Amino acid sequence: MKNKEFEELDLKYIWHPCTQMKDHEFLPIIPISHGKGVYLYDFEGNSYIDAISSWWVNIFGHSNEYINKKIKEQLDKLEHVLLAGFTHKPAIDLAKSLVEITPRGLTKVFYADNGSSAIEVALKMSYHYFKNRGENRNSFLSLSNSYHGETIGALSVGDVELYKKTYKPLLIDNIQTPVPKDSTKQSALIAIEELEKILKEKASEICAFIIEPLIQGAGNMHMYHPIYIEKAKDLTKKYNIHLIADEIMTGFGRTGTMFACEQASVTPDFMALSKGLTGGYLPLSAVLTTDEIYSAFYCDYNEHKAFLHSHSYTGNPIACTAALAALDIFKKSNIIEKNREKSLYMRKWLEKFKKLDNIENIRQTGMVAAFDIKGYSPKQRIGLQVYTYGLQHGVLLRPLGNTIYFMPPYIITEKEMDKMFSVAYEAVLRIKD
Ligand SMILES: *Cc1c(COP(=O)(O)O)cnc(C)c1O
Repeated sequence: MKNKEFEELDLKYIWHPCTQMKDHEFLPIIPISHGKGVYLYDFEGNSYIDAISSWWVNIFGHSNEYINKKIKEQLDKLEHVLLAGFTHKPAIDLAKSLVEITPRGLTKVFYADNGSSAIEVALKMSYHYFKNRGENRNSFLSLSNSYHGETIGALSVGDVELYKKTYKPLLIDNIQTPVPKDSTKQSALIAIEELEKILKEKASEICAFIIEPLIQGAGNMHMYHPIYIEKAKDLTKKYNIHLIADEIMTGFGRTGTMFACEQASVTPDFMALSKGLTGGYLPLSAVLTTDEIYSAFYCDYNEHKAFLHSHSYTGNPIACTAALAALDIFKKSNIIEKNREKSLYMRKWLEKFKKLDNIENIRQTGMVAAFDIKGYSPKQRIGLQVYTYGLQHGVLLRPLGNTIYFMPPYIITEKEMDKMFSVAYEAVLRIKD
């Protein structure tokens, strides 16, 4: 079958995520036959460099031999078992490894099966912690421009209008504090003053402050200074609320360190992980927390303090195995160190983009680079021109509104980066009304 036939069948049956389906009257759906390394291949022999790691999940390339091998071995042993009353080696080994590599003080791992569920778990746990201690707190605090997923709870603490506005009447109570407006230290400190004002007034109603540390992903790759996280941690402690670090996108090396919180030497009360966790292979998420929080739930059954949240595929053995394989690769191949050179190479390319006068806000944190197309409203959907040009020239660059960003798998070579950036450069040169 050719691309076109798949497209017709697809549109007959599938309702796609994050899509106005009518767009596919003019935008082709791209059926993918297979992937290898940074490349995705369609059914007509075209290849596409996956410059956005398939929605930020794929960190070691497609069809990675080592992860494939580990999954195949696990498949013949145990595909799945419930995690209530039962356990298995991949879940234990992974929990132990996550405790070892995350900031000190995070000692317990609660599994779920996608990023939004991890956020639901963290929110419910934080709320429930205070309840178990005899306090009723009904609100959360989050940053302006934040994104934490799209289930009702996760959407409530987010602030991307596009996803949120329709559902506002359904959402839980949430307070917003301004995110630092840029990556300078000064902006971070101004935003900290705002945070303290809110906490002074409202801390007793608030369970937790939730942040995406260093980079707000779906909020157009907005970046801010690590001192904000450090000071926010001090304030949440001072005002006795929890700090939830949503490292679903930033975790596993994306910001230049294994976890973004490391750059501020902060241990949050909850850390949510997903996306890169399984190397981009399978849905899995984890919420790490402290002994202190764990013990507030630990008592006789009839005291009714247990955390009874569950998902059918919690801690799936194949997904845990993929995650363990991904962690092996980090260690064996010195990924964090190698990424340092790769992000320098990205930086050099970004310098060249300064020559283009139709873009602004060129920015980078670790393995994420981005800029904005200047002078258009989001309604004009100017990013689509870059997307279409990219696809025609073998690079998958799915923009966020007017923001073009690069978030490639860590195995990308300099030559592949040359192609990725030069196609984007040409695409931007060609932007027209
Ligand atoms: C993607 C993302 C989520 C939601 O994860 P899903 O698996 O898509 O539900 C939450 N928070 C952040 C920061 C994300 O980037």
